[in-house]
Amino acid sequence: MTEASKTTGSLFEFGSKWDYAPAPEARDWVKLQSRYELFIGGKFVAPHSGRYFQTVSPSTEEVLAEVAEADEADVDAAVAAAEEAQRAWVALRPSERAKYMFRLARAVQERSRELAILESLDGGKPIKESRDVDLPLVCAHLFYHAGWADKLDLAFQGRAWRPLGVAGQIIPWNFPLLMAAWKIAPALACGNAVVLKPAETTPLTALHLARICQEIELPPGLVNIVTGAGTTGAALASHARVKKVAFTGSTDVGRKIQSAIAGSGKKLTLELGGKAANVVFGDAALDQAVEGIIGGIFFNQGHVCCAGSRLLVEESVAEELIAKLKDRMRTLRVGDPLDKNTDVGAINSKAQLETIRGLVRSGEEEGAERWSAPCELPGKGFWFSPTIFTGVTNTHRIAREEIFGPVLSVLTFRTAEEAVEKANNTMYGLSAGVWTSKGSKSFWMAQRLRAGVVWANTFNKFDPTAPFGGIKESGFGREGGRHGLNAYVEIEG
Ligand code: NAP
Ligand code: MG
Repeated sequence: MTEASKTTGSLFEFGSKWDYAPAPEARDWVKLQSRYELFIGGKFVAPHSGRYFQTVSPSTEEVLAEVAEADEADVDAAVAAAEEAQRAWVALRPSERAKYMFRLARAVQERSRELAILESLDGGKPIKESRDVDLPLVCAHLFYHAGWADKLDLAFQGRAWRPLGVAGQIIPWNFPLLMAAWKIAPALACGNAVVLKPAETTPLTALHLARICQEIELPPGLVNIVTGAGTTGAALASHARVKKVAFTGSTDVGRKIQSAIAGSGKKLTLELGGKAANVVFGDAALDQAVEGIIGGIFFNQGHVCCAGSRLLVEESVAEELIAKLKDRMRTLRVGDPLDKNTDVGAINSKAQLETIRGLVRSGEEEGAERWSAPCELPGKGFWFSPTIFTGVTNTHRIAREEIFGPVLSVLTFRTAEEAVEKANNTMYGLSAGVWTSKGSKSFWMAQRLRAGVVWANTFNKFDPTAPFGGIKESGFGREGGRHGLNAYVEIEG
């Protein structure tokens, strides 16, 4: 089995087809522009304000490019282009829409190497993740939704449905291209056009996706990319002719968007933060659980909304498990995201590094015990050693707040009832994990854990056919699967 198929085990893997060049040559695969414009109506256009911001590589602090900052006028132009394109898109036969979408999926698949390198360069994630997880999933989402484009009557079981029009989509920096695919694919499949706002620190893969849209002659205006910061996102969400807002990001910003558009009649889905419990019972296969815990919290430097950031371990095996965990953490390689042997890459931004440091300080001050894997961190760039806190209680900030970094909080329990109570003692409800050798116990737990997704003896597994989303303060609405299509149509009756 190749390294890639072990990770993804899906049809959509390319990792095995291209081995990886060392960092300096890898970069040559990507033709970076020194400046990126907005993508509106199928063309790259300068921003109305003439303003640009820089995007840096978080592993070197090197400025990669300057990127246009969209203001209200640009957002308005993008929405107008999308409206026009949507009218033509919806007039096409569904099978024609599907053809365009398959073409897009294939083009992205062919360009996976370039896009994976770019993702690691701009965002700091290890190339083995962008190559073997992100890009295969991006393609899987595009192919999956292309498949729905001419089968929607089936999806909606014969009920009358209509596309919504223009979708305004706002995404975060942790899975930039994957979140773009999660947003764009169902919207187009259901006959809508989109205006997408990438996060300020990771705009480049969405802009290369725009180039691909242009090259495959996707109808101009169907996909528009407006880069910028929070104000660009706010302008997009509240634009009067945007009929649907899809947001993935923090709970705070999600709340702001919800109140900004209240009463407007816009359809809204929110995919927000999380503080998942990863529950390990004494009867679990502990070595397997250790791998799941490591992947659950250190994958993508812990910049994962559904990260298993609270480890709940049965007291009887806590000591043994924590010792195994520390041994495994000592083997993690932290460093250059473009090195294929790297396990933990760079923290996405200086601001995020400060947030992580602040929360780790609070953990120490509140009396939890910190242990960080001994590793040499590069001098330049933004880095944080894989860290665990033991002796954590539910009142500690590190047990309640999303750290969004490579930091695990460990709590213990004695009974399954206590595990459920502790796991559910959070404002979030995005994901959870259970490790046990007893199937009946997994089901018992899954029925009681208040989370959108519960993994048993695995963690962080995604598939486009499975709806994903949260409850409580983790948001509402689902992305993926047949459920995910509902967010992009109006169904009559
Ligand atoms: P964020 O600060 O909420 O930003 C998300 C996006 O919203 C960015 O594009 C941001 O632009 C934009 N934005 C900021 N202020 C806005 C406003 N007032 N109106 C409209 N848009 C605005 O989140 P983040 O720091 O990028 O991402 C981390 C968060 O995302 C975490 O909480 C994580 O749990 C969550 N997340 C959730 C999921 C999920 O599926 N549930 C998946 C991934 C991440 P700028 O970045 O350019 O300012
Ligand atoms: Mg960047």
